[in-house]
Amino acid sequence: MSYANFVSLNRKAYAPSIIARFARNSSFKVLGQEEDKERINQLFSLLSLSETGAVLINHAKEQKYRFKMNKGMFEYGGANPYTKVVNLNPKYNNGRLVGTLAHELRHLMQYSSGAMPEINSLDFKSYMMQNRAMEADAEALGVLVSWELKKAGFPDSWNIYKKESPHLATAFENNINISKEKAMTETFKAWYDNKALIDTYDSFQVSDLENIDEYDDCKFDKKLSSANIIKMLCKDPVTEKKYFTEADSLLEEEKYITISDNNKKRAERFLNDEMLIEEYGVKDFSYKKLPVRDDARYKKAKKSSGKKTTNKRVDYSSDAIMIAQNKLLGR
Ligand SMILES: [Zn+2]
Repeated sequence: MSYANFVSLNRKAYAPSIIARFARNSSFKVLGQEEDKERINQLFSLLSLSETGAVLINHAKEQKYRFKMNKGMFEYGGANPYTKVVNLNPKYNNGRLVGTLAHELRHLMQYSSGAMPEINSLDFKSYMMQNRAMEADAEALGVLVSWELKKAGFPDSWNIYKKESPHLATAFENNINISKEKAMTETFKAWYDNKALIDTYDSFQVSDLENIDEYDDCKFDKKLSSANIIKMLCKDPVTEKKYFTEADSLLEEEKYITISDNNKKRAERFLNDEMLIEEYGVKDFSYKKLPVRDDARYKKAKKSSGKKTTNKRVDYSSDAIMIAQNKLLGR
């Protein structure tokens, strides 16, 4: 059965009353105590009220992921494609966690589309573009789901996005009357406005490189173009059609590949290493062409832009998710 058929046949089965039942004999394995299972089932019930959420749920079910409330974690949540476990932090309320769940389930879908954090094979620039786009897309989906939940009478998740990532919520809100595709594209693009967040994700990438202890498998020669990445990631899960309304080359543009001076220097320190080049034959100089952010100018612009900064303020909500992923990936 094709995925499209699978989804359309099953979509009706996700009415909340059924989810509550489905919870008990679901093919989702919920790890942990009864109360944790209850909570996870509540989140699935809530998520299933969003059309997009229901499709994300179906996909995770098909992929046989397991779910866990993890009291020990510091982050909102994390998804591990190797162990097939999604962790959520019970400390946060359902409004927050339903957005996190949507974000994590979207990552599972990205993995199925061929996006994987192949730190050993992609060149630095390709990995960076993919890594950033995965987060931008997962957040765009989180915002979309929260919008759909608001329309269904459950505004908590939307209100959290409005408060904590206003640049994303505003980008979506200002464009949803034009089209869903445009709203998702603008939300995706708005993700790149948070430069501190980008730096954090990039710094995880560099740390991952620095922590590689086995150079034998290091190639760093596989390339992904902006068009490859957009084609792989930017699909509406409901229609299965591309949602991206901008040029496919967008991710090659300066704004999308600008890197902090510090992260670029760290990348260079690693990749320009004599041993790596001579003994292991690594020749990845893709970092060299990445434009460096003029941090002084960025700071000044931030200071002088007055009210505008609320739209582009620094938020770390998604870093937390990234930290979780990295930890759970054991990297
Ligand atoms: Zn993420």
